[in-house]
Amino acid sequence: MQLGSIDTIVAEIAEETRTHTHRGKVADYIPPLACVPDSKFGIAVVLHDGSVHTAGDAEEPFSIQSISKVFALTLALGAVGDQLWRRVGREPSGTAFNSIVQLETEHGIPRNPFINAGAIVVCDVLLGRLQPREAIGQMLRFVRTVAGDETIAIDEAVARAEQDTGFRNMALANYMRAFGNVHAPVELVLGTYFHFCALSMSCRQLALAGRYLMDDGRADGHSVISARRARRINALMMSCGHYDNSGDFAYRIGLPGKSGVGGGILAVAPGIASIAVWSPGLNPSGNSHLGQLALERLVHRTGWSVFEPR
Ligand code: GLN
Repeated sequence: MQLGSIDTIVAEIAEETRTHTHRGKVADYIPPLACVPDSKFGIAVVLHDGSVHTAGDAEEPFSIQSISKVFALTLALGAVGDQLWRRVGREPSGTAFNSIVQLETEHGIPRNPFINAGAIVVCDVLLGRLQPREAIGQMLRFVRTVAGDETIAIDEAVARAEQDTGFRNMALANYMRAFGNVHAPVELVLGTYFHFCALSMSCRQLALAGRYLMDDGRADGHSVISARRARRINALMMSCGHYDNSGDFAYRIGLPGKSGVGGGILAVAPGIASIAVWSPGLNPSGNSHLGQLALERLVHRTGWSVFEPR
C-alpha cells in the first residue's frame, strides 16, 4: 500500500460519511454522551511502519466506553494469566451488551470479557491485587504507554454520570456477587469499571494504543504482551467485540474490532494496521453505525480483511 493512497482513502471515507443522513442514534442513557453532536466523524490509521493517517475529527477526544474492555482484559491476563477463564467465558453472547439473562443459567459466569458483566468480573479480578485507585492508575499508565501519549485522561464527569445512572450495571454486579463471582465490594468494582469506561481518547490516540494488537504484542518495537496473547485477544475481538452484532461485523468487515457506546471502534488488521473510527450515532446493538460503514469501506478498498489470502 502506497502511503499516499491510504491518505486518499481515509480522506474519501471521511468525506463520504459527512453527507450521510442516516447516522444512527447517539447514546443518551449516560447523560454527558447525549450532548455529543452526531455530526462528528473521525478516522485514524496507524500502519505497521508507524506512520499515522487521519481524517475528520481524528484529534478530538471522545469517551471510549467499552473499548476499554480490551485494555482491561489485557491487564487482567497480565495479572492472573489463564486463571481468568475460570471466571469469565470466551463465547459470543448473542445478547445486548448489558444483558443479564444468561447469568442465571450460567451460574454468574459471563459469556465473555467484552460484555458489561464480563468486564465487571475482569475489574474484580484486578481488585484481587490492587485498590481501585491503583487499578485506575495502572489503566491510565497502560494506555498512555501503549499510545505513547501522556495526555490521555479520564473524564470524571462521565465516570460520575455512570455512577449515578448505572442501575443495570449495579444489578449485574450484585447478581454475580450472589453467585460468588464478584468478590470485592460492588461499589468499588463498579467505580473502577466506570472510570475505565470514562477514558477519553482521540482516534489518533486509540489507533496508536492498538498497535500492540496489530504487531503481535509489540508497540514501537517494545514487547507489551506475548504474540500468542495478542492473537488470542484479537480472536475474542473478532468473535465477541460487537455484542449481538459480532457476527455481522465479522461478515461485513472481517477484522477483530471492539466498539463502545461513545461511538468509537478500534479495529485491527494484524501485521498491517491499527484503526480507530468515531461517529457517535449507534445502531440498535449500540455500535457506531457510520463507524462500521467506514470500516467496511476501508477494508473493501485496502483488502485488509483477515480472510483475504496473502
Ligand atoms: N459504560 C457503558 C455501560 O456500562 C459501556 C457500554 C458500552 O460501551 N457498550 O453501559
